[in-house]
Amino acid sequence: MGLMKAPENTPVWVNVDRCKACDICVAVCPAGVLAMVPSDKTILGATISVQTPEACIGCNDCELTCPDFAIYVADRKEYKFAKLTDDARKRAEEIKANHYMALSC
Ligand code: SF4
Ligand code: SF4
Repeated sequence: MGLMKAPENTPVWVNVDRCKACDICVAVCPAGVLAMVPSDKTILGATISVQTPEACIGCNDCELTCPDFAIYVADRKEYKFAKLTDDARKRAEEIKANHYMALSC
């Protein structure tokens, strides 16, 4: 992506300085990898967080839908992504039902 160097052995990573806390990436993530956490640095009082990177299936939906180019997904050639599990699907639904906030919040 050019703006950030890809960290090693990491499926998905974020630049919280660009995040406007719109929740879109959390809404599209099928695996419950992403969630918002409280932040005093954004107007909306929250920012994006990668909660369960090991569950990322590499679908790229978060990177493609983020309007602020704040989120990045590793190349399939460089990272072996997980398969989508029932647990991951369930977590995604629970996060959405929790107003996109991390389940620990
Ligand atoms: S690549 Fe897909 S599974 Fe991974 S964090 Fe983004 S939306 Fe979720
Ligand atoms: S889509 Fe982008 S701006 Fe919106 S919450 Fe996710 S990372 Fe932040």
